[in-house]
Amino acid sequence: MVVLSGGTGTPKLLRGLKELTEFAVIVNTAEDIWISGNKVCPDIDSVLYTLAGIIDEEKWWGIKGDSFRTHEMLLKLGCDEFMAIGDLDRAVHIFRSELLRKGLTLTEATKRLRKALGVEQEVLPMCDEEVETRVVTDEGDMHFQEFWVKRKGTPEVVDVYFKGIEKAKATKDVLRVLESCDFVLIGPSNPITSIMPIISVRGIKELLIDKTVVAVSPIVGSEAVSGPAGKFMRAKGFKVSPLGVAYVYKDFLDILVVDDVDRRLVGEYDGVKVVATNTIMKTAEDSKRLAEFILRFD
Ligand code: GDP
Repeated sequence: MVVLSGGTGTPKLLRGLKELTEFAVIVNTAEDIWISGNKVCPDIDSVLYTLAGIIDEEKWWGIKGDSFRTHEMLLKLGCDEFMAIGDLDRAVHIFRSELLRKGLTLTEATKRLRKALGVEQEVLPMCDEEVETRVVTDEGDMHFQEFWVKRKGTPEVVDVYFKGIEKAKATKDVLRVLESCDFVLIGPSNPITSIMPIISVRGIKELLIDKTVVAVSPIVGSEAVSGPAGKFMRAKGFKVSPLGVAYVYKDFLDILVVDDVDRRLVGEYDGVKVVATNTIMKTAEDSKRLAEFILRFD
């Protein structure tokens, strides 16, 4: 089984899934950014920390119990570090960046990190090339992190695009895990900025078509559970609803899992079966229950 993941909703689901089955994860890297000299991979880190059991489950980023002394000192020194990076989290970024500077690929560096953190599952960056999600707004064209973290998601979104995507190609590890699986799970991640970059990498989408693909809707009712997914879907011309999510994935989706509040949508739409359950994951039990529900389709 292969899971496609962004950074908040899907790690919540992985927390339950890891108790039940084996899987590999292909992770979005288009939100990666170099900060204060180090490469931060927000989605890869959230997946690694979740699988290592050290994620901060309040925020779903960073390491639980982390301190921020280096970040505070950098601010005091006048460094414009607009993301709050924990001290232990930064150690991971430093080690990753050292490996990259030595010439390792992001895939190789991530493998070193996951082994050091005791993560058994394969965690694979979607590609080794740099791809950058850019948000076109009424206040200019900016990196996703500038839009979401620095500007708190307030500018009006006109468009979203992935700089460098035309050069990105599926790594041999990504191709291997996709070719040898028959079940793909798309977790509740931002369809535009987390999943669209993954399926836009050359070689990936074609491999999804003949698999059983199940997605969990990150949109509950007519809003995202958290984050800017609604704003981005609207800007891209999709309806902000679970069926809008199905439409983003229409080329390969078989089953869409929607929340109980959207139970009226249960049915069949152009070859996509819609099923409903409670998809809100507040506790580890919620995550496990949703994972069990999904595994019935494997
Ligand atoms: P973000 O939009 O940048 O936060 O990107 P992510 O890929 O990390 O997406 C998180 C997505 O997960 C958001 O669109 C949320 O709506 C969704 N999400 C977060 N928690 C839950 C949850 O407990 N259940 C469901 N169904 N969706 C969730």
